[in-house]
Amino acid sequence: MTRYTRNAMGMAGLLAVAMLAMAVAPALAQSPAEVDAALKAAYAKYKDLKEGANADYIPALAKVDPNIYGIALVTVDGKVYTAGDVSSEVSIQSISKVFTMAKVIEEQGTQAITDNMGVDATGQVFNSIVAVEQYRGAEMNAMVNPGAITATSMVKGASRDEIWKKILGFYSEFAGRQLTVNQEVYKSEAETNQRNQAISMLMYAYGHIKENPLQACDIYTEQCSVSVNAKDLATMAATLANGGKNPVTGKQVMGTGNVPEVLAVMATAGLYDDSGKWLYLTGLPAKSGVGGGILAVSPGKFGIAVVAPPLDKAGNSVKAQKAIADVSNALGGNPYAVKPR
Ligand code: GLU
Repeated sequence: MTRYTRNAMGMAGLLAVAMLAMAVAPALAQSPAEVDAALKAAYAKYKDLKEGANADYIPALAKVDPNIYGIALVTVDGKVYTAGDVSSEVSIQSISKVFTMAKVIEEQGTQAITDNMGVDATGQVFNSIVAVEQYRGAEMNAMVNPGAITATSMVKGASRDEIWKKILGFYSEFAGRQLTVNQEVYKSEAETNQRNQAISMLMYAYGHIKENPLQACDIYTEQCSVSVNAKDLATMAATLANGGKNPVTGKQVMGTGNVPEVLAVMATAGLYDDSGKWLYLTGLPAKSGVGGGILAVSPGKFGIAVVAPPLDKAGNSVKAQKAIADVSNALGGNPYAVKPR
């Protein structure tokens, strides 16, 4: 009997060891205290930085409190770290382009994107009409306005309302909570978006937008007005870092196989004209918006986001770039940086 018990315990011990070996390795090599310290250090380092200015070409953005500053990091195993103000919300703006592109790929496959707007950086500003003219609306990407509005026009639905509900629902699944629209920002941009309307008509004229170009522009304007905080954006980024599965809610939001293409376009065109500089510095696919948010993805490790409205000349949040680079570098987030075997 004694012998039997000992054997049984031995088996159980072996089983426990095997199960431990099979258990998924933690997302980060650092301890929670170290991750927390990295966020707190970056927060403190840039808290009083006064560089940059709010975007003002959309009047409502000029009125946003320039002192909002929050950092959030969500690991692929669902741990959430924050520093500063992660509850104040800003409009998502261009960061929305990532998720509408993802929706189109989900519905129509990756080829639909290459066929209809391309995946190359334009070398022009995000709302360039020259970029449209250069290749008759092709050879661009879904992170600049002509490609982004075209992507919005490709989301299928029987009515404007149905299309909109799909888009907002998709964003909300990435964020892990029901997102809403900042109506003041939407109204303000809708009153002043004549340039985007012109871009939409041109993309229609060149056959990339098939119908309702001004409806596409209007839905695009509404998607840019979705209200988010740093934690929402970090969770959205973490969902991309985790193969399309939201690590907080556990929901598979998009196909794992469709994520790499989305990250590739973020890497080449996510930070406007400074996308190359950013990739050189961090190696992270990222996307910024003129509302003052930036999210970045360390594939297989974490999503990180900062909200801080003042922007540099390229249109990227000053504090967000610095804080994300610091935290990612402290945690080994650069996917190109590997140790030799
Ligand atoms: N809604 C803005 C626009 O189309 C987004 C710009 C941005 O965040 O880059 O001008």
